[in-house]
Amino acid sequence: MFIEQMPRWVRWFYPHVWWRKDAHQKTLYVTFDDGPTPQTTPWILDQLDILGIKATFFCIGSNAEKHPELLQEIKNRGHAIGLHGYNHVRGLYKNTDIYLADIERGAQYIDTKLFRPPHGRITPKQANILAKKYTVVLWDVITRDYDASLKPEQVERIALKYTRNGSIIVFHDSLKAQKNMQYAFPRAVKQWLSEGYTFATLND
Ligand SMILES: [Zn+2]
Repeated sequence: MFIEQMPRWVRWFYPHVWWRKDAHQKTLYVTFDDGPTPQTTPWILDQLDILGIKATFFCIGSNAEKHPELLQEIKNRGHAIGLHGYNHVRGLYKNTDIYLADIERGAQYIDTKLFRPPHGRITPKQANILAKKYTVVLWDVITRDYDASLKPEQVERIALKYTRNGSIIVFHDSLKAQKNMQYAFPRAVKQWLSEGYTFATLND
């Protein structure tokens, strides 16, 4: 519970951060972190077209530097792009100047107003600084697709169990999460579609 969905008291420390959007709307916000990667991004883009939904990709600057064509393809297909740092540096226990410099380096490759802290680890002070320039986005549901100790079916169950109106949901566009993500993401979206949810990007 504590991992998959942060309790309300934790969220109170981050008043400027997006955790969840409108709880009265049957709209979901699927996000993919840590790409773009040639092994998974094209597959995700094809699945999103098949499912007929739009998503948001929080990309790592060093990956965008290596694969600018994938970054462009995400945009061409109508999805939103967010920044996820250059080297996936975690803010907590990190000197704030070093942390902010890594984000600025990432911004050279990714032009966006959306930022998601790598690992979700950020101090309230860092979040307040970044909120002046970016919409800082954490999440309502983290599917734990990156966790190799979980079976793909468990990841699907986590996604379905915690998702609710306005949820911002995290999957990963990375090799580590590939097996779990490729199983859980399309199945969960099909289920949500059958329940009448619609989907939007975080730019909508
Ligand atoms: Zn990440």
